[in-house]
Amino acid sequence: LPLHKVIMVGSGGVGKSALTLQYMYGDFVEEYDPTKADSYRKKVLLDGQECLIDILDTAGQEEYAAVSFYYFLSNFYHIILWTDIKLSLIIIRDNYYRSGEGFLCVFSICERESFAHTQDFRDQILRVLDDESIPFILVGNKADLAQKRRVSTEEAIARAREWQCTYYETSAKTRQNVDEVYNDLMRKIKIR
Ligand code: GDP
Ligand code: MG
Repeated sequence: LPLHKVIMVGSGGVGKSALTLQYMYGDFVEEYDPTKADSYRKKVLLDGQECLIDILDTAGQEEYAAVSFYYFLSNFYHIILWTDIKLSLIIIRDNYYRSGEGFLCVFSICERESFAHTQDFRDQILRVLDDESIPFILVGNKADLAQKRRVSTEEAIARAREWQCTYYETSAKTRQNVDEVYNDLMRKIKIR
């Protein structure tokens, strides 16, 4: 079966895990370990054709990996330069970006900082993959919390236009546009 490898990126707390779990199991998980990164695989029907989707739900794990790497090394060396640690985290992160065929870049419509951070994720991904046409979707999650909105739809659309990518507003809680974002991304991967 054709396999489509999708990577979830975005700041902590924006709903990457909630979206993934809603898509995978049809459930809204209120509390999910914010440090837990995991990959999920399921067989799906995409335009009448069976395929496999592989979703990597990231959780800034490169930082945790770097901490354990630091403890490992500190058994051998007394002084470790911070730049070495920083470099090791970048290498770890770049390696999993390299394994992705498509990206869901998620922010929360209730948090401006998470919207600002999408630019960093975009830059990192393009630097590693060096391919402007990599399947990429900008996702404004928590659309059910309209009264707490801090990022306008127009602003997000403007950024998507600048990046020449699609923008969706989703809710992992109500399942709004959840199937749509994953299906759209898989289609973009397929036609490449
Ligand atoms: P992650 O760090 O990006 O994986 O974020 P999580 O999936 O752990 O979600 C962080 C918090 O936001 C949790 O308490 C979720 O229940 C909540 N959350 C995630 N998505 C939504 C959503 O679409 N609507 C609402 N109301 N809450 C959400
Ligand atoms: Mg998470």
